[in-house]
Amino acid sequence: MNPITRRQFARQSVLGGAGIGLASSFSSLLAQVPGDRPQRVGKVTVLNPGGRVPVSLMIDDSTCLVNLNRFAMPQFDTAFEGANATYHRNWKEWPNEIPDAFVRRFGEWCAGRGVKGKYSIVPYPACVGRLDRILPGWSQRELNDSLELVRTVMAPNWDIHPEMCTHTRVIDIKTGHPYPDHSLKFMENFDWTTARSADEIGAYMAYALGILKNVGLRCEGITTPGGFGNRALPQLAQATLQSVRDVFGAEIPHYFRHLYDKGDESVAPRVEYATGLDGPDPRCVVSIIGCTGDWTGGWDNTPPGGVDKFITEDLQQGRMVDVIGRGEPAIMLAHWTGMYWNGQELGFKIFQEVVRRLESKYDHLIWMKLAEISRYWAAKELTQIAQADGVVRFDAPFAAPRFTVRVTASSVSTPKMAGDGTVPPFREVTRFLELKPGTWLREPAGVVVCFDLPKGRSILNLS
Ligand SMILES: [Zn+2]
Repeated sequence: MNPITRRQFARQSVLGGAGIGLASSFSSLLAQVPGDRPQRVGKVTVLNPGGRVPVSLMIDDSTCLVNLNRFAMPQFDTAFEGANATYHRNWKEWPNEIPDAFVRRFGEWCAGRGVKGKYSIVPYPACVGRLDRILPGWSQRELNDSLELVRTVMAPNWDIHPEMCTHTRVIDIKTGHPYPDHSLKFMENFDWTTARSADEIGAYMAYALGILKNVGLRCEGITTPGGFGNRALPQLAQATLQSVRDVFGAEIPHYFRHLYDKGDESVAPRVEYATGLDGPDPRCVVSIIGCTGDWTGGWDNTPPGGVDKFITEDLQQGRMVDVIGRGEPAIMLAHWTGMYWNGQELGFKIFQEVVRRLESKYDHLIWMKLAEISRYWAAKELTQIAQADGVVRFDAPFAAPRFTVRVTASSVSTPKMAGDGTVPPFREVTRFLELKPGTWLREPAGVVVCFDLPKGRSILNLS
């Protein structure tokens, strides 16, 4: 981490503001660190899984039943002492609930299309009630049914993340109550994380994760509410690594903090704080980077940016077209509030059309959960690879399905994994799109091989 003075830090914090789009201005000065990287010997390149481009959708501000931002808006307004017009919207006219019938319809539509992503479950939404205790305004039966819906319809295809505890007021984790201070200093979205240690932030995350654990929802990552962690980026990454491992034993914790909705900055996941790659307990945390704005209606039911911002009707332009064209994971953002849009479902309609357009243009996309993308990128960055004399040796701290590599080699026979002879030789395919685990493709300068990379050592013979 760059040594900087307190004065520089304060100045940079002020300049950076609180918007997620400005994250890069911090990360240059106060970057999270990559940590260890393995040696690479030879001409081996790790490609995307199966040679496909990962796509995903991150949904923020979802929870069980509670229309979070209907309750959050007045709390934000209070924290700004009424001085910020962003928080003067007509929240009293918004419904209290986003109904489970909508969750089911959305979840089933996505499952039918193979759509995957991240779905927040805010554990103590806007201080209305804790999902593991009581949700005032709904019966215990309704709460239980709602949780069961998340466990059965959403969790198979969506990472479940807490978005801290409340997404509004900070909870005193000793008492379980919000702190008496109503100012920005004790709002999760705004200043609370500033100058706090990784241990303090990690303990707070563990409290949020614990509520979801109590209701049988497993998490491998977290989403930051609003500006949470913006002025404590290294601490945020380390706190995620600690808390998600501690509470769930997750092998590769991940988090969503950064987003670039335009420009050339890479949106590939960042593998950070990697340590112990050769030992029995390798560690890292993955920062997932969003690539679109919320053009589906936002957190506050504003007029949506619309489908064309993602991909135009002629399928030629839009942010998704740009990022998919680069071959980087194209991870979209939406808020549950705008997906439902007070019952008009404006966001959902936009998203459905985005998916239809993506399907008409591309045949090489692969929908992945964030945990799957994180695992692949951890293996891509952290596997030691050595090539010599027709043999490629992989030492992998983490396993990864569909691991796909391009190997430059002059003469090649059918690739085989070394072992006890039980692993069949690879099957040759003739098109890139046919690549799946256990197949290989001949190229002018070598081969592309796709296989399920096991944790530990594996050896690929090419001659
Ligand atoms: Zn949020």
